[in-house]
Amino acid sequence: MNHVGLHIIGDGFDPSRLVGPGGALPRVVKLVDPSVDFKRRVRQAVGPDCLIVVRFYEAQQALGAPQTNARDWYQRHVGQMTQMTDPNVAFEGYNEISDAVAEAYCAFEVERLKLMHAAGLRAVVGNFSVGTPDVPVWNVYAPMLAATGPADLLGLHEYWGVGADIDNRWFCGRWNLVPQLANVPVVVTECGRDAVNGGPGGWKRGTDASTYISEIAKYAQVLDGRPACVFTGGNAAGWEAYDVNDIWPRVTQLYMPPVQETPGKVYTLRRFLSYWPRWKVSRPFGYKDPAYAGGWHKGADLIRTDGGTQGAVVRCPFDRAVVDIVSWREDRGWYIYLWDKAQGVEVCFYHLSEEPYVRPGQPLRAGDPVGHVGNTGALTTGPHLHFGVCRVDDNADVIEWIDPFGPRVKYEDMQ
Ligand SMILES: [Zn+2]
Repeated sequence: MNHVGLHIIGDGFDPSRLVGPGGALPRVVKLVDPSVDFKRRVRQAVGPDCLIVVRFYEAQQALGAPQTNARDWYQRHVGQMTQMTDPNVAFEGYNEISDAVAEAYCAFEVERLKLMHAAGLRAVVGNFSVGTPDVPVWNVYAPMLAATGPADLLGLHEYWGVGADIDNRWFCGRWNLVPQLANVPVVVTECGRDAVNGGPGGWKRGTDASTYISEIAKYAQVLDGRPACVFTGGNAAGWEAYDVNDIWPRVTQLYMPPVQETPGKVYTLRRFLSYWPRWKVSRPFGYKDPAYAGGWHKGADLIRTDGGTQGAVVRCPFDRAVVDIVSWREDRGWYIYLWDKAQGVEVCFYHLSEEPYVRPGQPLRAGDPVGHVGNTGALTTGPHLHFGVCRVDDNADVIEWIDPFGPRVKYEDMQ
């Protein structure tokens, strides 16, 4: 559950305590009012692939003149943001805005996104309190969601009063219930036990450390891979009942350590496109571009040299595989992950032309068709196949991306 990270207030936390056994790294950390130096030390500890969300506490969250308020917010923080930014940092704006001022807040975020994008900065919009906005109010926020770029995220706060609330999707996992959130990349910027649904408040008021950690692990399942930050570590003054500083090492014990390299291991993929020699790499693995998560291209883009890219058949490249994920995402369009559990490897194909015609859990043999090459999603400028290969653990969580045309991947002709 490396996707469950810590919410830290101020600089008073030793960043090395974010790392689990065997060097296991979190996938997300949230920092409230960090110094530039503290952010730098956290980055050093958690590595380049961890998402760092930064919030600047605002005593007043003015919305009387939303565009002006957004420009004022930007002016107050642009200096620090410029010093803190890297490809995996995203900045929050206002916090837990009520539905009563949804229109003004939407206008604020649309203006803030414009300023952030012009400066090459990533944003986390929303950061709505647990259960909010009310269902109809999500429509008011349509312009805000439409204004986000492929690198921006929607922040949500999720809390439970007692452990049983984790099964209530209005408290935990409301993206399952709100149709407007179906394809929006979410980061849970605060989560944990709170005084919701009649609960007593922070975990120290209602339970013990072991029970609370098991609740966090249960919530990790609800997240289905989405990153989330437990409230709170660091300076918990005023939040003593929520303080997880002492128990955090027990949470990181549940992290998955990085798997050691098997020297010389070669992953075998059978020929997977109808006629391989007609394809060429249009953008290689490792290509650097801030548009990509982490700032680099985790696959190879392929086009056909004979103009037949759009609609070409994509086939299962493994002797035996199972369909892991079939989904749609703003940046990837229609995409699919196929899992070869025996080899501990997955392949992914992005930007498929339409919803693939296989289903998660379906077994596949080499050469089975899974979909067609297309041009769906935001991170594409023309028909192409994004082809990724990664090593995965037993839960098919990505451990490492591999160059699909590198020396560690072997292709065999299946004809
Ligand atoms: Zn690509």
